[in-house]
Amino acid sequence: MHILDIFRTSVSTCSFEFFPPKTEKAASSLYDTLRSLERLEPSFVSVTYGAGGSSRQLTHDLVARLHQTAALTAIPHLTCIAHPESEVEEILGRYAALGVNNILALGGDVPSERATYDRSRDAFRYATDLVGFIQRFNARRSHPDPRGFGVGVAGYPEGHPATPNRLVEMDYLKAKVDAGADYICTQLFFDNRDFEDFRERCELAKIDVPIIAGIMPITSVTGMQRMAQLSGGTRFPAALLRAVQRASSDPGDVERVGIEWATKQCGELLDAKVRGIHFYTLNQSRATLAVYEELCARRPLPFGQRQPKPTGS
Ligand SMILES: Cc1cc2nc3c(=O)[nH]c(=O)nc-3n(C[C@H](O)[C@H](O)[C@H](O)COP(=O)(O)OP(=O)(O)OC[C@H]3O[C@@H](n4cnc5c(N)ncnc54)[C@H](O)[C@@H]3O)c2cc1C
Repeated sequence: MHILDIFRTSVSTCSFEFFPPKTEKAASSLYDTLRSLERLEPSFVSVTYGAGGSSRQLTHDLVARLHQTAALTAIPHLTCIAHPESEVEEILGRYAALGVNNILALGGDVPSERATYDRSRDAFRYATDLVGFIQRFNARRSHPDPRGFGVGVAGYPEGHPATPNRLVEMDYLKAKVDAGADYICTQLFFDNRDFEDFRERCELAKIDVPIIAGIMPITSVTGMQRMAQLSGGTRFPAALLRAVQRASSDPGDVERVGIEWATKQCGELLDAKVRGIHFYTLNQSRATLAVYEELCARRPLPFGQRQPKPTGS
């Protein structure tokens, strides 16, 4: 389904992010995760892309599999790093032929194994350039949907570390949307005030596409530490850290704290009429399912859609 149709038919979208598995064991665990999350009938799922790394083909393979066998709207991520135009053209052509309707267009980060990679050789420097290229692909009517690919871009409620000037950063985000993005999906955050403020700043900058909030339930202390490293600047509020610290002698209690925090965040965001919630699942279903079920217990049809089917139906 094209993202514009998804937004038209949903009060708030609910989506899940996965990364492509690299081993048989990881693949089998991911398919278990998918089976348990599929019954929630997500608006879409998205699949990450290893910028310049070895897992690029795996993104395509997982998207193809989800699209063909799981009847899910699967959105591939695509990054600028280490691609000539011809390669991006080929990737878009393959997705168009499969009937994939949307792309999340990203700048990407140079992976640690290619730390010395020289970006001056890349055809696309910023996500804005990639969005523009996808829109030119769309304009040539190269996609079976006359609208072409729906395009998403990333947003950073707490700011992106490479642009400390937060005024200029909003200009760059506006340029990305003006180049043809249909929606923004945010980096994960733990304080809803950051998201609300970001939404207001977007409004002031006349950025008027739907903004989906990125949520990641904390499931362990080490997971939280890893995420702090990867997400580049995410702030952990003192109240959350205090609760995690108090629970830290029991891994189950830490997970319960993470689920409770994420549920509260989602509840407040839905009250504030967020256009969508995107769960960073890390290929695990338990915490995301628990948050979803908590939301259903507290309010009927939290995302304005059907209740999940019972397991096994
Ligand atoms: C929802 C989401 C999904 C993600 N998925 C992936 C993934 O699958 N694979 C992956 O490798 N990474 C992924 N990332 C991480 C992302 O690639 C990095 O955060 C990257 O550093 C920035 O990506 P971007 O799309 O925001 O890039 P850009 O929009 O290109 O921005 C990158 C930086 O450049 C600045 N900038 C933009 N335009 C200009 C300009 N004209 N001049 C100067 N500076 C400019 C921006 O302010 C920002 O600081 C994801 C991030 C999010 C939020």
